[in-house]
Amino acid sequence: MTDFVFPPPERVSLPIHRSRERFPVRRVFCVGQNYAAHAREMGADPERRPPFFFSKPADALVPGGGEVPYPTATADLHHEVELVVAIGHGGAQLDVLSAERLIIGWAVGVDLTRRDLQAAAKAAGRPWDASKGFDFSAPIGPLTLVDDLIRPSGEIRLSVNGEARQSGRLSDMIWNPAEVVAKASSLWRLAPGDLIFTGTPEGVGPLSRADSVLATIDGLEPIEFIIV
Ligand code: MN
Repeated sequence: MTDFVFPPPERVSLPIHRSRERFPVRRVFCVGQNYAAHAREMGADPERRPPFFFSKPADALVPGGGEVPYPTATADLHHEVELVVAIGHGGAQLDVLSAERLIIGWAVGVDLTRRDLQAAAKAAGRPWDASKGFDFSAPIGPLTLVDDLIRPSGEIRLSVNGEARQSGRLSDMIWNPAEVVAKASSLWRLAPGDLIFTGTPEGVGPLSRADSVLATIDGLEPIEFIIV
């Protein structure tokens, strides 16, 4: 057995709906601006340009939601509800059909964003790590395996204190999940345990302390959390 100078961190994992097994998380990739109306609300042109990616550390995930601390260094924390793809097999440089076979499950995730820091980073041409990849920035629900749901369709929604904030249709995605996986596989050799957040519909907006957030996608387990 390897001797470590201190105990290695615990493996981040997600519960799997209707299973006793868990999904061990490797990396977390995220797509920017994958719904036309959201691209427009962020001041971008929603043409079908290739998707772009950023990352969050795996330990930014908040499996199962619960309490999410309001982050430091921001006065404009935003919610972005997203369909999350779970990768169960490895592969690189895949076409769309092969890419689809890498997907073993789905979850509802929320890409929390320090919007003020992101705007400053965009203006200065700087990276997004501090605006996207902070601690507790990715509440995520249990995985639903493709055995139970081949591909989610229908509505994606987020409400705050019972009031609807985001509402869209998964069919409004500019790049569908298999296309997103194919594109990601041209940039990284994907591996079991990778997650990909596939972008948010319009209606992103601010969260405050004590806000209660509910995010849902038809056919998947919802995620609920409170900002503390
Ligand atoms: Mn996002």
